Amino acid sequence: MKWLFRKRKEREIHTVETMIRMYCRAKHHTKGTLCESCAEVFSYATMKYNRCVFGEQKPVCTVCPVHCYNKDMRERIRVIMRFAGPRMILHHPVMAIDHLILQRWSRKNMPVFLKRVKKKKGTGMRQKIA
Ligand code: SF4
Ligand SMILES: [Zn+2]
Repeated sequence: MKWLFRKRKEREIHTVETMIRMYCRAKHHTKGTLCESCAEVFSYATMKYNRCVFGEQKPVCTVCPVHCYNKDMRERIRVIMRFAGPRMILHHPVMAIDHLILQRWSRKNMPVFLKRVKKKKGTGMRQKIA
């Protein structure tokens, strides 16, 4: 439960990793490790989190106004989330609630995020993160 005391971004990465692991175990029959395809999705998501234009104060990706994932990865992570999302409350209730809190925080601060996006528009922000 140490993850609960980490920063928002780290908690989000931890939750996404848990969801990918859950999906991989069920769909690709892995035990303790990720298959190549799921490892690729996790590594891509981690890279995006670490390079997020919002820095440490990022919204959760699911409610982000930018959505910097490429089309293929967006679809792959969406499939994983759709599978693991409803199962989280049963298997990892604290994590699921924490994620809902993070989502709520992100929505509450949406005007701030939108303002930042607007400010950086025209400076190549969208192209840079596409
Ligand atoms: S820009 Fe948005 S989708 Fe991309 S990593 Fe940051 S919060 Fe997530
Ligand atoms: Zn897998």
